[in-house]
Amino acid sequence: MSVLCGGIEAGGTKFICAVGTGPDDLRAEVKIPTTTPDETLGRAIDFFKEQAGLAAIGVATFGPVDLDPESSTYGFITVTPKPGWSNTDLAGAVRRALDVPVGFDTDVNGAALGESRWGAAQGLDTFIYLTIGTGIGGGGISGGRLLHGLIHPEMGHIRIPHDWERDPFPGVCPYHGDCLEGLATGPALEERWERHSETLPPDHPAWDLEAHYLALALVNLICTLSPRRIVMGGGVMEQQQLFPLIRQKVQELLNEYVQSPEVLDDIEGYIVPPGLGNRSGVLGAIALAQSLTGE
Ligand code: ZN
Repeated sequence: MSVLCGGIEAGGTKFICAVGTGPDDLRAEVKIPTTTPDETLGRAIDFFKEQAGLAAIGVATFGPVDLDPESSTYGFITVTPKPGWSNTDLAGAVRRALDVPVGFDTDVNGAALGESRWGAAQGLDTFIYLTIGTGIGGGGISGGRLLHGLIHPEMGHIRIPHDWERDPFPGVCPYHGDCLEGLATGPALEERWERHSETLPPDHPAWDLEAHYLALALVNLICTLSPRRIVMGGGVMEQQQLFPLIRQKVQELLNEYVQSPEVLDDIEGYIVPPGLGNRSGVLGAIALAQSLTGE
């Protein structure tokens, strides 16, 4: 029997709060629109106050965040383009209000942990989880540990070759213009093609270009981190036609250089959608909390 815990998937548009022991046992859930930190966190805390017997709470959040336990701003969202949210003490506010241990990590590391425990990355000591949605982010596990370091990976902001001939669009990243997120995030698709990405038909050239950029990013990540699998989630990846395009382009770009049967012969099992669907984040937050209790 797993331990009953709470989880917060803190996103730029909504906070999803849930209580449970795992994917088959979610006992309560609420979605709270992301407004000001005080209002949003206040509502989240009120929800958890109504839940009895929580051993811990996990917070998997948008960022950038401070993950250094030695730092005076551990558990904070640091400097974010999201108005009003810079220097917000997320983990501390939850811990002070509810008096339980609080696990804290990026949204994508949380999702990676959820996929590792219950989803498409079970049993893998090294893999990455990428989300392609209103932003692009990546997390993962390397050698059995969540990827941390200087701060945390910022896979959305890696630089990839910009196909200027096919794509004169300058990119939307406020920091870098045409980094991966600048070229391939949901808002980039919408600005480039001047329509909502969900209304672009599956055979629209937008998707081949999108797959091209994502495949370039994946090849960089494969060559850098040597993941045993890549899990791709987020709103843009709900366009299922992207998966076969990305797999084919990754194989072409690698050109048989990475001699692994996973990549050469089983690319369908190597680049995969999340096993937990769009539940990786909130379940991952619960998994973060459970990891504090020794699970
Ligand atoms: Zn960027």
